[in-house]
Amino acid sequence: MQDFPLLLTGYDLQPQRVDSFIALGSNLGHPLAQLARAFQALDHLPHTRVLRVSQLYANPPMGPQDQPDYVNAVALLSTRLAPLDLLDALKALEHAAGRFATRHWGARVLDLDILTYGTETIDSATLTIPHPGISDRRFVLAPWAEIAPQIALPDGRRIADLLAAAPNHPLRVIPVQSAVDSNDRPSY
Ligand code: AMP
Repeated sequence: MQDFPLLLTGYDLQPQRVDSFIALGSNLGHPLAQLARAFQALDHLPHTRVLRVSQLYANPPMGPQDQPDYVNAVALLSTRLAPLDLLDALKALEHAAGRFATRHWGARVLDLDILTYGTETIDSATLTIPHPGISDRRFVLAPWAEIAPQIALPDGRRIADLLAAAPNHPLRVIPVQSAVDSNDRPSY
């Protein structure tokens, strides 16, 4: 990824800041370094700050198994970008990280999804909020519950409760030192 390129030229701003939770994932190109850079890049988006980040969670892939393990995390943003502009910004960050189109659930350098955007529910051709894959993905719910267990989806379901009911999926918190050493550790 380049050093925080100017990603958006024209964008709509909300009158007030909105809290938005973002899911991050990577299983190619030094995932720990990808996620560390992505946290910084999110914080450099226009009118956007990163308020909180989870630990990093290693876990085996969902779907095709002939790919490396994933590293996942969740970040809380405060942003004035409108939802579609936030989506465009995330897609631009994925692109800048070198993501290319793959098969469904295929390996990727960086995946950024909008989990929630304030209390809004959106169902358009390009954007669904809350993200439809939330309730059965332990690798999203565990890092999310770590930073915001009391948060509820617009339909009232709490993240901690969704996590308790989610299907089993092995997750391992990556020790901080591994994350710090990520550039020397090609295995993640
Ligand atoms: P992905 O494979 O996860 O990068 O998602 C592919 C497409 O999903 C994107 O190009 C978006 O248009 C669409 N999409 C729908 N809802 C969302 C969401 N909440 N967050 C991110 N992408 C979304």
